[in-house]
Amino acid sequence: MAESLDGCRVKVDSDFGLCYSRIGNLRLGGAVMRVGITLACSQCKQRNYVTTKDKRKHPEKMEIRKYCRFCNTHTLHKETK
Ligand SMILES: [Zn+2]
Repeated sequence: MAESLDGCRVKVDSDFGLCYSRIGNLRLGGAVMRVGITLACSQCKQRNYVTTKDKRKHPEKMEIRKYCRFCNTHTLHKETK
């Protein structure tokens, strides 16, 4: 099933007949795949961010450039447990 992030262009499922404004967070007939993760600076290993991700969209470990207040600059932050 095709998903759209911006509202109601998602094909209406005849079983439900609803229009979902945020289909990304809904999982009908399946587990919600949002999981909590911690993002740690790859330079100093400090855990600077706690967030969630959609495991369906990001089955791999996430790597994001974010500001590290310990390194005082933007560094690559990697997902950790
Ligand atoms: Zn750092």
